[in-house]
Amino acid sequence: MNFRQAISPPLSVICVASGEGAEDRRCAEGPAVIMRSGLRRWAASRGGLDPERWIEPGPRDGVGPLERVAAVCREVCSATRDVVCRGRIPLVLTGDHSCAVGTWTGVAAAMEEDETLGLIWIDAHMDAHVSETTPSGNLHGMPVAALLGYGSAGLSAPAADGVLGPGRICLIGVRSYEPEEVDLLTTEGIRVYGMDEVRRRGLGRVLIEAWSDLRLICDRVGVTIDLDAVDPRDAPGVGTPVPGGIAGRHLSKALASLPRDGALVGLEIAEYNPFRDKDLRTAQLTLELVRSLFGGPEMNTPMSLEHRYCANNYHPIPVTLVRGRGVHVWDDRGERYLDMMSAYSAVSHGHCHPRLVRALKRQAETLAVVSRAFYGGNLGALAKRACELTGMDRALPMNTGAEAVETAIKAARKWAYEVKGVPHGKAEIIACRGNFHGRTIAIVGLSSEAQYREGFGPYPPGLRTIPYADDGALEAAINDHTAAFLVEPIQGEGGIIVPPEGYLAACARICREHNVLLICDEVQTGLGRTGRLLASEYDGVTPDGLVLGKALGGGLLPVSLFLAREDVMDVFRPGDHGSTFGGNPLACAVALEALDVLLEEGLIERSARLGAGMLEQLRTLKGQVVREVRGRGLFAGIEIDPRVATAREVCERLLAAGILSRETHDTVVRFAPPLVITAEQIGWAVDRLRHVLLTIEQTHRAA
Ligand code: PMP
Repeated sequence: MNFRQAISPPLSVICVASGEGAEDRRCAEGPAVIMRSGLRRWAASRGGLDPERWIEPGPRDGVGPLERVAAVCREVCSATRDVVCRGRIPLVLTGDHSCAVGTWTGVAAAMEEDETLGLIWIDAHMDAHVSETTPSGNLHGMPVAALLGYGSAGLSAPAADGVLGPGRICLIGVRSYEPEEVDLLTTEGIRVYGMDEVRRRGLGRVLIEAWSDLRLICDRVGVTIDLDAVDPRDAPGVGTPVPGGIAGRHLSKALASLPRDGALVGLEIAEYNPFRDKDLRTAQLTLELVRSLFGGPEMNTPMSLEHRYCANNYHPIPVTLVRGRGVHVWDDRGERYLDMMSAYSAVSHGHCHPRLVRALKRQAETLAVVSRAFYGGNLGALAKRACELTGMDRALPMNTGAEAVETAIKAARKWAYEVKGVPHGKAEIIACRGNFHGRTIAIVGLSSEAQYREGFGPYPPGLRTIPYADDGALEAAINDHTAAFLVEPIQGEGGIIVPPEGYLAACARICREHNVLLICDEVQTGLGRTGRLLASEYDGVTPDGLVLGKALGGGLLPVSLFLAREDVMDVFRPGDHGSTFGGNPLACAVALEALDVLLEEGLIERSARLGAGMLEQLRTLKGQVVREVRGRGLFAGIEIDPRVATAREVCERLLAAGILSRETHDTVVRFAPPLVITAEQIGWAVDRLRHVLLTIEQTHRAA
């Protein structure tokens, strides 16, 4: 497939806000959530779009579900007919698949008299029930039968002229059906690609075959996707999940590879139920599917290229950022956002800080990388500055936070054998539940998060976890083999968990008593984030080992350091450990300048002062949506009541309000702006947040 040659047909979105034919009527909200979750934004950026058309069922008084669905179908029919007549392609979004009767009747009605319509129906079910055979009585199980002219006259009436003749519909992904449905489809000569066949032959192959077969006898082909065709792990937000379906990314890839031969006449995506959606995952998938099928020139956008060519290991908020300055970033449409998460603290100095950019350019033009095979010029100066600032004796440069944490673990183990006298192979590292120290195998071995661990084992031995903020648990866990206790002074990714005052001091005392190293991971909390150079200062603690990263690179480069007391660091001898890029002249020049800027611009005091104000304002938001506010300095998290909204939903609404933030876990929204933010900007952000929370509260009440 050649993305560059792909055509970009004009689209018209029809939102059918009806759940009349479904078991859970709340799916009527589906189209609104899909539109809000990026589709409207995408459609607008694509250009040439009609205004959305909304269809809702009429008042309920005295009218039965069948009549109500039939009425909705009539409206949908008229809408799709109108769209196709104007040479455009309808994109019908609905929570209730029964409206498909209207969609495709309308499409067929708009086609020339001698033209024929074919349909690709991607679904876990056959939807070929009539009222006599349905076990549930739900009308969303009947549209295929109705389109073939079967069933209650009320529902099939718009399709009475036989919208779809024999053989003109292919079902794909089916895995849940009743024998009566099989009988009906067999009578009509309908090709059904069951899930087993899809799995065996691959969705891409099956879809192309179905398309080609239909094209032999049909002039135009429509696609209807019931989201329950997708594996519920990728699309949990559906009315009737059936385990074991198509992988979301396989479906979007297969749709993207359909021939762009101009035959596509419409797309319908059905069954979305936002009340069952986890992290808006299904809404995001819907956007991806639409983008895959309507690939045009915009298929080359950074977002679509990432979707198409990158591993699926992140789930970004749908915005493409192209420029940054200070506390602001801009997206590819020129929209400005206030950055309230600064790349997990990596951009504490603000985006593209002029002094840091100057230092970067100057060094890049002079000498950038030499490897540690030679002396590089700036490393010694950086190590000296970092040691003087933190009270450590020596530094070992790496690049990412995870590498520096690995370095700390290696140092602690070797220290345990050489200095403490732990028998070889027996050293133990203790960390806390809910920690985040990175993603390498050893570090993931210390994680208590199932998703980080599962599927990546086995893990190295000698790694233990204990509850966080519980010094008694530390004391109990330490034994003669314990080398080190690795801890975040505030758990960042764990949800901005602030331990009680004195916790770290107690841990330091316990470690000292048992000759165990206290290693503080300040990759996220360090360098001013919490209002002190190091968060461990709040407890008056100087650790034996310290990990720094993120902000050390000034928002420009990955730079990390493991710092430690001399007797700890001295266990490393040439060849024991290293990194090609660690400590390169370019990274060190930037890091040195980053430390200078931090001090000279008073960013640490600023974080303490403005952070206190930010937390105070955030605490006023506690209520139905926000259960708790935690934090220190410009490092805050608000705990969202999961019964009301997900943290992801709050972040997406904040995005629409011009604020970037990111959830951690399902329930915490983090606010960690660049330390150069002003009090006015914080006030503005909190106001916007208040507004977003109010809207969520109102929507929740209405539901
Ligand atoms: N330690 C902590 C406390 C962190 O928050 C992170 C990253 N979020 C890391 C280590 C890992 O850093 P990196 O992503 O640079 O490997």
